[in-house]
Amino acid sequence: MTAPAAATNAVSPCRLCGAPARHVFNRLILERNDTAYWECTACGSLQTSPPHWLAESYAFRGVHIDVEQAARGVRNWVCLVPYLRAYGVTGERCLDFGSSSGLLARLMRDSGFDFHCYDPYETPRYADYFTVDTLEPNAFSVITAFEVFEHFADPATELARVLSLGADLIVFTTQPYAGQGPDWHYLIPCSGQHVFFYTERALAQVGERFGYRLRKTQAFLVFARTGGAFADAGLHPVEIPAAATSALISKTCWNSPSTNRDAEEVRDRFIARLREARRDG
Ligand SMILES: [Zn+2]
Repeated sequence: MTAPAAATNAVSPCRLCGAPARHVFNRLILERNDTAYWECTACGSLQTSPPHWLAESYAFRGVHIDVEQAARGVRNWVCLVPYLRAYGVTGERCLDFGSSSGLLARLMRDSGFDFHCYDPYETPRYADYFTVDTLEPNAFSVITAFEVFEHFADPATELARVLSLGADLIVFTTQPYAGQGPDWHYLIPCSGQHVFFYTERALAQVGERFGYRLRKTQAFLVFARTGGAFADAGLHPVEIPAAATSALISKTCWNSPSTNRDAEEVRDRFIARLREARRDG
């Protein structure tokens, strides 16, 4: 690896808050684009130069370098179930924004939550009958977004879109930027998909503009709407005892009433689809 280029005196507007951002270092994106990274002088966030390479970045289908994806889905499930129960979430409509394979949404449905998927880049194959193609305001009380926000090329617009959907609770992960250098593992320049790295301060400020408080929990970051149904979310630690995890796993598949209910619904929808396809054919 060649040494990263040193910082220069150049500035560029921050794509989140618009303040000047100063050049901090360069990395090679997709193994060929020598790209500058910028740190905002106001919100402190780190960002690549405007990402013109995204089409190439997303042209490679599949999980490829994101080998953690399956384990992350399982870990998020194991943590999210006790978190949402502790916050008082029961039958509310929930959306997994950037749901990828749909594994998390499927497991959450198995555990009795009304989860749906949204992902403009992937077909959520594990929950394809519980997927939405468009996002209507006020359709979901809870939104989850795991490892999504750092992919936003235009975070001011794209975060505003998520925060304007009217959810009372947004549970998410993204690794906060706190001055890490060019070797920070989270940059992943070879894939070119991580293009914006928020400071906690920046996240708190954006949340506040849309009526949310940012809170950190053991496993997640949380935007809780002030005065909303889950305004206390994240205020108290939620315990995730090992026994609860094994109880969760033992209640999956045919031991889960919600899985059985889904199985009936999707069978009816599948048969209707099959008949329709035969009629058209
Ligand atoms: Zn900024």
